[in-house]
Order: sequence, then C-alpha cells, then structure tokens
Amino acid sequence: MAETENIIEAKGLCKSFGSFQAVKCIDLEVKKGEIFGFLGPNGAGKSTTINMLTTMLSPTSGTAKVVGYDVVKEEAEVRENIGIVPQEILLEAQLSARQNLEFYGKLYHMDRKVMGERIPELLKMAELESRADDQVKTFSGGMKRRLEIAKAFLHRPAIIIMDEPTIGLDIQTRMVIWDKIRELNRAGITIFMTTHYLDEADLLCDRIAIMDHGEIKAIGTPEELKHSIGKDTVIEVEFTGPQEKFLKEIDKLCEKATVTENHGHMVKFTCKDPVNAIKKIIDHATHAGVKLDKVSMHEPSLDDVFVHYTGRAIREQGAENMQAKFFAVARR
Ligand code: ADP
Ligand code: MG
Repeated sequence: MAETENIIEAKGLCKSFGSFQAVKCIDLEVKKGEIFGFLGPNGAGKSTTINMLTTMLSPTSGTAKVVGYDVVKEEAEVRENIGIVPQEILLEAQLSARQNLEFYGKLYHMDRKVMGERIPELLKMAELESRADDQVKTFSGGMKRRLEIAKAFLHRPAIIIMDEPTIGLDIQTRMVIWDKIRELNRAGITIFMTTHYLDEADLLCDRIAIMDHGEIKAIGTPEELKHSIGKDTVIEVEFTGPQEKFLKEIDKLCEKATVTENHGHMVKFTCKDPVNAIKKIIDHATHAGVKLDKVSMHEPSLDDVFVHYTGRAIREQGAENMQAKFFAVARR
C-alpha cells in the first residue's frame, strides 16, 4: 500500500450523464482509520461518487486516489485494496454462505490455504456458522447483509466502501450490523458508507459529508455540523385543534424564531430563549383553543442539520423510497 494520510482523496471529481451533472466537481478527503458517513437525499449523487471511487464508473473530469492509487490509471490496484458492499445484494442465491465466500476469494486469486483459514473466521463474525452450508436464498435480509459485509472483508482490504449497508432492515438487525462495522474499524479498517439513517450516522461516524444536487454542502464531525447551524434550541410542538390560528403567531413567541418544519399538527422551530417561549406557547395554545399533545426542546440534531443544508427532511425521503421499494416488490 502506498503511504498516505488520506485514504480517499478526490479533487474536482465530476460525473455527467449526457448534459446532466450528477456529481459537480467535488473535493473529498477521508482519513485513514475513520468511519466516514456520506449523507444525502435520493438522487444527490452518492452512489455515482461511490461508483467512481470503486472504479465502476470513470469520472468525466477530476481525479481520485484511493489507498494511494489513481482510480483511472491504477484501477486494478484500487480494486485489490478495497472491499465493496454495494447498494444491491450481489450474492449467489443458489450457493451456500461458505461457497459464496470461496467463489469471491477465487475471483481475487486468493491462496486456498489462506481462504481456508479466513472463511470460518468470517462466518463466525457474520454469526452465520450454523447456516454456513445453507443456500443464501433461504436467508433473511439481515443475514444476507452480514454475509455481504464479511465477503468485502475476505481479502483484508484497507478500506470498506458501503452503499446503504442497512437500508430496509429492522432496528435490531441494523444494530448488529453497526457492531460489525465498529469491529472492522477497530481492526484498523477505514469505513466509508452512505446511509439514509441519521441516527446511524450520528452514532457511528467520526465525520460526515452532506451531499445534495451533486455538491458537498457540509463536512465535519457530527458535533461540528450541529454547531455549524447555530446553537439555538429546537422546540417541537404537537397539537390538536384549530391549526391556522395557532400557527399564525408562533414565530412571535421567541427571539429569532425560525420555523424549520410544519406538518399541520406538528411544528418545529428554533429559538434563542426556549424556556420563556414554552411558557408563551402554553398561553398561546389556551388562547387559540388548541390542545397541546407534546412540547419538547432539544439541541440541534443531525436531522436539523440535514434540513438546514438540503431544505428537506430525510425521513420523508426515506419513507418515499421504502414505499417505492414496497410497491416494486408487490408488483413482481
Ligand atoms: P444517490 O445515490 O445519492 O441516490 P445517484 O448517484 O444514484 O444518487 O444518482 C444521482 C443522479 O444521477 C440522479 O439524478 C440519477 O438519476 C442520475 N443517474 C445516476 N446514474 C445514471 C446513469 N447511469 N445515467 C443517467 N443518469 C444517472
Ligand atoms: Mg444511491
């Protein structure tokens, strides 16, 4: 491996499809040893960026080095040094878990003896020992994901690049995968991952980049990003009753009030003097004939950061996406 502090280094990296610029000349540096999260709404350009970094797509212009190798001029070296967990599962459904790993090892021209040592270790790590010789088509979504991650680790890459590794999985399964990601990272492997889940990014990632419309809008640690949007407290109010009357004056309840979300019966706004504002909200609700169901306040979360930089809530994005997937499956 070439010596470098930055394990990913992209400069002016661009990708156009016809006249459409999917990735607009981004600069990106990922440090060796970090867990780096790549966030953004659907269509932001995350997968296109990942595909360039993993040599699956060639850039329109700009350069990128991964593990010190150029993604265009040293394609083979890049591939040898990275592990990829793609957005779509690419396992062979007819083969067993063990056979999938053997098949992949052969693709990498791995030594039989080395494979013989690593495969049982990886099956253990993926908690698939008891199912090692069952066909993958009988596995749950979580089992397939764990096997896909184990597979990416087989040739001991310096970095694992994952595109939405936990999409569509339930919370328990996601937590198991988070543990695996941490385990790999503790073993010295850099992790670069896209995710739709902000809680996941907040918990796991050392640093995060937020991408939208092909550009990187913000980059930093979760704490830095939260501070970057100001230290105002976020107040969330859920209520039943006459909306219009209640919402009309809400921005007059505190200094520097800014409404960030308004869903009719739920409103979120940031505020300089939250305690005072909450007292006023109670009076205001009585006055407007509104019943308060929930009033809460919190420091800015990554959700607030995301809305700030993209103008959209990722929850809505995710829900849309899941629904589209559900209908696509239902139609088959
Ligand atoms: P993300 O992974 O952030 O959801 P993508 O990188 O998949 O976004 O896509 C970014 C944009 O580029 C989208 O508008 C998408 O429709 C477009 N795009 C991606 N791949 C192609 C392609 N092969 N041809 C044309 N447009 C594409
Ligand atoms: Mg994608």
